[in-house]
Amino acid sequence: MSQFPVTPAQTLKTKPDPATLSFGKLFTDYMFVMDYHTGKGWHDGRIIPYGPFTLEPSAMVFHYAQEIFEGLKAYRIPDGSVQLFRPIENIRRLNSSCERMCIPPIDEQLALSAIHELVSLERDWVPSAPETSLYIRPFIIATDENLGVHASHSYVFCIILSPVGCYYPEGINPVKIYVEDDDVRTVKGGTGYAKTGGNYAASIRAGERAAEAGYTQVLWLDGIHRKYIEEVGSMNVLFKLDGTVVTPDLTGSVLPGITRKSCLELLQSWGIPTQERLISAEELFEAGASGKLEEAFGSGTAAVVSPIGEMGWGDQKIVINNGNIGPLTQKLYDTLTGIQWGTLPDPFGWTVKV
Ligand SMILES: *Cc1c(COP(=O)(O)O)cnc(C)c1O
Repeated sequence: MSQFPVTPAQTLKTKPDPATLSFGKLFTDYMFVMDYHTGKGWHDGRIIPYGPFTLEPSAMVFHYAQEIFEGLKAYRIPDGSVQLFRPIENIRRLNSSCERMCIPPIDEQLALSAIHELVSLERDWVPSAPETSLYIRPFIIATDENLGVHASHSYVFCIILSPVGCYYPEGINPVKIYVEDDDVRTVKGGTGYAKTGGNYAASIRAGERAAEAGYTQVLWLDGIHRKYIEEVGSMNVLFKLDGTVVTPDLTGSVLPGITRKSCLELLQSWGIPTQERLISAEELFEAGASGKLEEAFGSGTAAVVSPIGEMGWGDQKIVINNGNIGPLTQKLYDTLTGIQWGTLPDPFGWTVKV
């Protein structure tokens, strides 16, 4: 039984040709919206036609960026049904981001029902071409009409859906990344572990500079020592160093990725040693020079894993696995995507039917 009222759309959009799908440009017919006011709590969860918000120019989110977001996907599986991947992890992280940004938390079951009901209503939008999916973007914005700096007393929680194409239509090509020495994404004590827009705003300049220099992504160093690796672009990063998979530990400035966590759990189940620890750029470049850096890849919901073929740092350059995707990276990609698209068994119970 539906928990939320649905306002029918006057007209429905034409579903796109799956071959033309890119990322995050098209949105479905409906969205979920829920309001918060101090004293009233979260209330009036509802599904309405996808469309613009009306907000006062003084709405706090425009000025002080009190906002958070999430990202997960719905997958079409071979029997035609639709499933989510570890959605409860996204909801827990949403509430952890809320806590950091002084946004009132949302009941986990309520948030989960909102996702389920919206995706269920929009299930025809989940594409079925290989490796396509429906991207789910929950977010919360502060809506007080007030230029004073304080936690807002009113918020909107919204979920929008976007059909997305295969991330690697031409096959997985390793990317070139550049170690960023000037800008930092965030620092310990800041908002790095929260999924909040400000972290992205702070990262754009370095991304643009890396692109101008012919690189795809930035490798972020920690903001205090300017020494330890944190993330790659907006993904977590993992390295296979002399047989062990190492990844930066969650010191507060690293986003606790669900793909990262799933990779670590898979690796452990395969008996491959893993370590969450500080990794200096120097250690990596030395390992690169001595041949001990066997594989490197980013992890995140959008790309699943993104192999790194080359890293630049000042005038040093290292090439990883001859610029090709490594066998372990490929196995992680195949296993994760197999579980997500339902072509492999899910021994961990990660998937949830809609
Ligand atoms: C969302 C995000 C990730 C990846 O998280 P997943 O849960 O794996 O999608 C990594 N780094 C940053 C900065 C992010 O915002």
